[in-house]
Amino acid sequence: MSENIREVIIIGSGPAGLTAGIYNGRADLNPLIIAGFEYGGQLMNTTLVENYPGFVDGVDGPELMQNMMKQAEKYGAEFVYEDAVEVDFSDEIKVVKTNAGNEFKSKSVIIATGSSPRRLHVKGEDEFYGRGVSVCATCDAAFYRDKVVAVVGGGDSAMEESSYLTKFATKVYVIHRRDEFRASKAMQNRVFNNEKIEIVWNSEVIEIKGSQFVETLVLKNTQTGETSELKVDGLFLAIGHIPNTKFLEGKVDLDDQGYVVVTDNTKTSVDGVFVAGDVRDYRYQQAITAAGMGCMAALDAEKWLAEREDEANGNN
Ligand code: NAP
Repeated sequence: MSENIREVIIIGSGPAGLTAGIYNGRADLNPLIIAGFEYGGQLMNTTLVENYPGFVDGVDGPELMQNMMKQAEKYGAEFVYEDAVEVDFSDEIKVVKTNAGNEFKSKSVIIATGSSPRRLHVKGEDEFYGRGVSVCATCDAAFYRDKVVAVVGGGDSAMEESSYLTKFATKVYVIHRRDEFRASKAMQNRVFNNEKIEIVWNSEVIEIKGSQFVETLVLKNTQTGETSELKVDGLFLAIGHIPNTKFLEGKVDLDDQGYVVVTDNTKTSVDGVFVAGDVRDYRYQQAITAAGMGCMAALDAEKWLAEREDEANGNN
C-alpha cells in the first residue's frame, strides 16, 4: 500500500476527518485515513451527545464515531491505525510518515488532527474523567441541573462556560490561579454580574476526590500555600486546548498558538494541503462544526485535484 500514490490522505479520524472521508470516498477518490492509534477523536471519551443534529434522544459518542467510520469505509475510505509523526510537503507528491515506520504518498492532504483539551494532571482527574470531570460545558452542562459545579480557568472559555452552566446549576465556582482574569472585559463582566457565580481567586485544584462521582476538590491557595476543600458535583476544565500540530511545525504555517493558518476557506499555506476541524478552530470546537469543515475541505480537495487533472490533460 505504501508505494501507492493516493489522490488524498486524510490525517485524523474525528468528525472532521471522517466527514472528509465520506465525501472523498463518495467522490471515488479512495481516501486513506491515517486514523491514529487512538482513533475517533474526542467524542470517543464522551457518553451521551445531545447536540448532534438528527438524534432526538442523543447518541452515544463512541457509537456516533464508529458509525461515521463505517460510513466512510462503505464509500471506499481505507484506514491505517497509526499516528502521523512526520510530513514532507516540499514536493508535488506529499509524504506522510507514521510511528510504525510506514510512509504514505498522495497528491493532496487534509489535516484533521484536532486539538486536545489541556488537562490539570492532578490526582483523581483521570479517575473521575466522565464521572464529574468534564472538558466541555456545552456538551455536559445539562447533566448538572440543580447541582453545584466548579470551572477552572480565567480565559474567555472559563467565562463562557461558567455563564452557560448557571442555566442549569444552582451555584458555579470559578477557580482561577491568579487574582485577575485574562478574559475579555465584556466576558468578565458577564461573570461578575451573575449572582450564581462565585469566584475563587488565587487557587489551584490539586486533587479531585469522590466515590462514584466527584464530591470534593482540594484547593491550594497560590499566595499562602494553604489548602482547603470545596464540595462540588462536577468540575469543568476550561484551561485551553492544545492543537495537535507538533508534527507539522515548519511544514505548514501555524499561528502563535500552534493552530493551522488558513489562507482561503480550508486552504493552508501549502498548495494541495487542506485543513478542517479543531486543529484550525479554537472558537467553536463542536463536532458538528468540525464535520462541516471536513465536508468543506473534502470538496476543496476534490476541486483542486480536478483542476490539476484538467491542467495536466491540457498540457498533453
Ligand atoms: P486561554 O485564553 O488560553 O485561557 C486559559 C486559562 O486557563 C487562563 O486563564 C490560564 O491561566 C488558565 N490555565 C492554563 N493552564 C492552567 C493550569 N494548568 N492550571 C490552572 N489554570 C490554567 O484559553 P481559552 O479560554 O480556552 O481561550 C482560547 C482562545 O479562544 C482565546 O483566544 C479566547 O479569546 C478564544 N475564545 C473566545 C470566546 C469568545 O469570544 N466568545 C470564547 C471562548 C474562547 P492564566 O491566565 O494564569 O494563564
